[in-house]
This record gives sequence, structure tokens and C-alpha cells, in this order.
Amino acid sequence: MQTFVVCLINESDQQALALDKRVNRAQAGMGRKLRIALSKGRIFDETMPLFEAAGVSPIEDPEKSRKLILSSTEPDVEFLIVRASDVPTYVQHGGADLGVVGKDVLLEHGGDGLLEPIDLQIARCKLMVAGFPETDLNSRRRFRVATKFTECARRHFAQHGRQVEIIKLYGSMELAPLVGLSDLIVDVVDTGSTLKANGLVPLEHISDITSRLIVNRASMKIQHSRISEILDRISMAVRC
Ligand code: AMP
Repeated sequence: MQTFVVCLINESDQQALALDKRVNRAQAGMGRKLRIALSKGRIFDETMPLFEAAGVSPIEDPEKSRKLILSSTEPDVEFLIVRASDVPTYVQHGGADLGVVGKDVLLEHGGDGLLEPIDLQIARCKLMVAGFPETDLNSRRRFRVATKFTECARRHFAQHGRQVEIIKLYGSMELAPLVGLSDLIVDVVDTGSTLKANGLVPLEHISDITSRLIVNRASMKIQHSRISEILDRISMAVRC
């Protein structure tokens, strides 16, 4: 006769086990260089002056190189070039120790396994609900909302007690109301000129957004002094 042993573990045990796994993965990476995940484009352009001031920057321009791992001015640090929405996933699972990511992406990801020690105060914008100017958000109708920020949108409308249907898109959200795909969009807005050019207006503020430096929790424990030293230099660059 076979005997099965069923082990019931509570939520804090599960969290401890998850942290153990991350610590093991981070320990496995201890012999290697410290990895910083970055995305190309706006965040990269605005992050570089801070990293240069902190004395750690890639020695190759990622716009000119097809390499995805770039050496840096510090022999024990390298940069990983990843898609913006993948930065938290790389850092969460220990593929990178640190990362730079917009708060919008972080809110959407949920932040599990991540520390967020520095607000870099760059790539400033707002996560907004937008739509046609005549839209009455307080009417009791069920709005259709097009967005790539499905979790943020779901949370925001639930907090306001509004019934919505969320439609996932990957870009050009402003188009959706124009062709009747949705009534509203949830998107990041900087100057508001993209909304205006498409006859839309901001209707409701969800969150102020800036880029954040994130750190893998286990890496922070295991390589505390090295990571703290880099964080101090970046904090100083942000303050200057
Ligand atoms: P704007 O017309 O200046 O309001 O810019 C809006 C467009 O730029 C939107 O379609 C956004 O996807 C993009 N955008 C603006 N600010 C940011 C940011 N900080 N990070 C990422 N995308 C942004």
C-alpha cells in the first residue's frame, strides 16, 4: 500500500520558501558580475547621465550594438538590455540584480520579490484615464477600457466601484475610442499632446509616474555592501 504525505504550509512559510529559492538563485550568481537591467529609448537616455555621474555606465552604446549584455566602466558590473516591461521580471527572478523601470510598469507587475530603494525622478509622466471630453465617468454605464495596464486599470475602477470591461492592447491606445473599440483608455500621459491630437482629454488621475531603481531582494541580502555602495553613488547623483 502506498502512503501519501500531504504537507500544508501557510502563507508566510510559502513566502519564506519563495525567498529561499531566490536566495539560492542569487547565491548561484555570486561569482558573476553584478547585473543591471535597462531598456533602450527614453528611460535609457534619461538614466545614463545619472549612471555616468555615479561612475558606472556601459562602455558601448546599446543603440549601435546588437549585444544584449554590455560591459561597463566598472569591471564587476554589466548591463542587460531588455524590453521595459520585462525589467521587473528579470530582477524578480535573479536574471539581473538591479534594474531601472517606470513606476507604471512596476505597478502593473506588482513588485513581488523587489525592493524599490531609489526614485530616480526621471521620465516623469502620469497614469491617467482618458476619453472623449463629454464622457461622464459617474454615469452607471459599463465602460469599455482599452489599455496595456490591465491590472492598474482593474484596481483603479474597482476602487471607484465602477463596472468596466478591460480590453488589452499593446500600443497606440488613443486609437481605440476613435474606432469604437473602447469608451476609455488608461495610458501614460506626458504633455497631453497625443491625447489632444486625437480629440481625447485626461479624465481621471491614477498615479504620478517616475522611473525607479529596483533591486532583487535576495541579491540585496547576499551582496549587501557592493549593492549599497552603488545605490549610495546613484542616490548622490539624483540629489545633485
Ligand atoms: P504626450 O503626448 O507627451 O502626453 O506623450 C504620450 C505618449 O508618450 C503616450 O503614448 C505614452 O505611451 C508615451 N509616454 C509619455 N511619457 C512616457 C514615459 N515617461 N514613459 C513611457 N512612455 C511615455
